[in-house]
Amino acid sequence: MTALIELRGVEKHYGDYHALRGIDLEIRAGEFFSLLGPSGCGKTTLLRTIAGLEQVSSGSIRIDGRDMKGVAPNHRPTNMVFQSYAVFPHLTVAENVGFGLRRDPRAKSEKARAVEEALEMVGLAGYGRRRAHALSGGQRQRVALARASSSPRCLLLDEPLSALDRLMREQMQLELIRLQRQVGITFILVTHDQEEALVMSDRIAVMFEGEIGQLADPETLYRRPATRRVAQFIGKMNFLPGEVTRGGAGVEIEIAGLGRATLDPDQAPAGAASGAVSVGIRPETLAILFEGETAPRREVQGIIDEVVYYGDMTYYDVRIDGFDRPLTVSMKNLIGRPVLDVGAVARLAWDERALVLLPD
Ligand code: ATP
Repeated sequence: MTALIELRGVEKHYGDYHALRGIDLEIRAGEFFSLLGPSGCGKTTLLRTIAGLEQVSSGSIRIDGRDMKGVAPNHRPTNMVFQSYAVFPHLTVAENVGFGLRRDPRAKSEKARAVEEALEMVGLAGYGRRRAHALSGGQRQRVALARASSSPRCLLLDEPLSALDRLMREQMQLELIRLQRQVGITFILVTHDQEEALVMSDRIAVMFEGEIGQLADPETLYRRPATRRVAQFIGKMNFLPGEVTRGGAGVEIEIAGLGRATLDPDQAPAGAASGAVSVGIRPETLAILFEGETAPRREVQGIIDEVVYYGDMTYYDVRIDGFDRPLTVSMKNLIGRPVLDVGAVARLAWDERALVLLPD
């Protein structure tokens, strides 16, 4: 796939504050790309520089091969959807969607058809004559999307779902994915919600303090985080101290409380191939063994320290010998499986294939 948007060495200063620190990034044509990170990491600033709403302090932005320096937002092939759905309440739904087409040279009837198609795409066919102020929050959101999707190449979305309740939000996530596949244009989403980014994106750039910590597809980001920081930001992870006893292909490590393990090279990112390392294990890759069950790979004994019941899942903190902090284990609450009590002895199954080494 070709790069639609290319950023090279993009820096942004607000007075003394260094908001973007040398961002190099290529966003491909037709992909769903997310900028993910904690509050204040610079993701909105980055999106606004692409839109042309902020000037970069140095570095360059090219869209479709064209340098965007000095190009005003309304002359860029991008369109922005804001947190507060910017619909005009006094206009009808069709007038709102058609607003972006007012300078479009096409005939009136053709534009009306384009508006109707855009409304159909977001599931609002037949709503054209309604006044925007009479719509629900979710419907307004869809009007804003229908309007923005008339944009030629790229839609920029700044936390577009943050004002919605959880159910509505999950529904809109799926609708947005469908919409993006239908129209085939590039979507760039800013979000601080890791689950949202994992669900929606082809690729995700995780940002911390004006820099990109890791750029990868959702599965790689989750299974093979490059740093402890990324691992902690994307879901829950246990960390144990480890020591690399043999480097190279088939890395051998000694892990506190768990013992010796051999790993594949892709489980040890650059910088974690020797010496002291952190060993990361996701809670769902550990399992408590119930009566009659045997561990498919490795097993260690522990004592349950804490139990948190979530309905579909239970989270256990389990203490094992040789490591001073409990490991968190998540278990599905299957039929016939009891919820264990604090103090119970637990056999813990683990699998070296689920480990990831991170530089200490
Ligand atoms: P959030 O999720 O809270 O919106 P963000 O990652 O989108 O966070 P930005 O809005 O990009 O963060 O802001 C990055 C940093 O730059 C913040 O520390 C912010 O205070 C600062 N900043 C943003 N805009 C300006 C401005 N116009 N003047 C001064 N500082 C700014």
